[in-house]
Amino acid sequence: SNMKIITVVGSGLIGRSWSMVFISGGYSVKIYDNQPGQSANAIKEIRKQLEELEGAHMLRGELTATQQLALLSSYDDMAQALEGAFFVQECVFEQLEVKQSVFQDLERLVGTDVILSSSTSCLVPSDVFSKVQNRSRCLVSHPVNPPYYVKLVELVPHPETAASIMDITHALMTKVGQAPVRLRKEIDGFALNRVQAAIIAESWRLVQDGIISVKDIDLVMSEGLGMRYAFIGPMETIHLNAPEGIEDYMKRYGVGITRVLNSFGPVPDFCGEGSKSIVNEMCELIPNDRQNLSARTERRDQLLMALAKLKKDH
Ligand code: NAD
Repeated sequence: SNMKIITVVGSGLIGRSWSMVFISGGYSVKIYDNQPGQSANAIKEIRKQLEELEGAHMLRGELTATQQLALLSSYDDMAQALEGAFFVQECVFEQLEVKQSVFQDLERLVGTDVILSSSTSCLVPSDVFSKVQNRSRCLVSHPVNPPYYVKLVELVPHPETAASIMDITHALMTKVGQAPVRLRKEIDGFALNRVQAAIIAESWRLVQDGIISVKDIDLVMSEGLGMRYAFIGPMETIHLNAPEGIEDYMKRYGVGITRVLNSFGPVPDFCGEGSKSIVNEMCELIPNDRQNLSARTERRDQLLMALAKLKKDH
């Protein structure tokens, strides 16, 4: 193959997002969904989004919306969708058996050099690819929603994944404007969701223990930590927060951090009786009906778009 065609399997939220990212980088994208007509619908939806993005001067890549759309095609037949592809991005339901059987089908239909990549958020590669024969060309490429503005992609290898496959995928993701990071080994939650779980747990405990309100813990992130974290991570943050950098920082503050960490409570009760007051407090701020949640989601995406623009210029 000439490394120009990518097949996206599953045309839901994430399949559509990946398609938009890949065409923005000039790749031809063949979209397949096992629900007849679904991949054609996805293209209609993508057209609408691309036109809006072009209007807002937020279209990614060098090509116009029309040029990008010309790179897209939809298929109800898996074999046809896979013809000519060098890379397959799987975006089907987050169910282990569904993914395992999709990868079994995929392997039967493509050559051994075709890269098989899964979008899974929560399943580890050794489970997802357990029914594939040749796992050296398999990996997880985990995006963050919405991938068009939040560019991180976690590349997670199966124990048998070839180094060259990680390298090719890293280069592909970079070329289409994403920000890939490599995990050296698989681990439950990968990196992003492990860090996120730590933040959720301590936020939950602080509210549950009556230390702070739901509204205010969110402000601790959005007006405090989050201000830096959109540009520099926790490691650079501490490196810059002591006169002689990270080692100096830990000499000064390591004992305090250890003391605080040792005072952390156990894993909180997220669903039982103890969670009710947190749920109520959140729903008072933002009622959990469709309309309110959609409005806030739209606001979030608008803000992310503006932030993506700011990051692009810096
Ligand atoms: P979704 O439900 O919106 O879309 C799934 C699509 O896959 C549907 O169109 C469905 O018809 C299709 N499908 C189901 N079984 C199929 C099969 N056997 N063959 C072909 N197509 C099939 O789901 P989504 O939110 O797009 O998530 C897809 C994947 O991306 C999941 O693994 C999810 O964990 C991961 N992911 C999601 C997010 C997110 O925020 N939604 C973020 C990162 C990763």
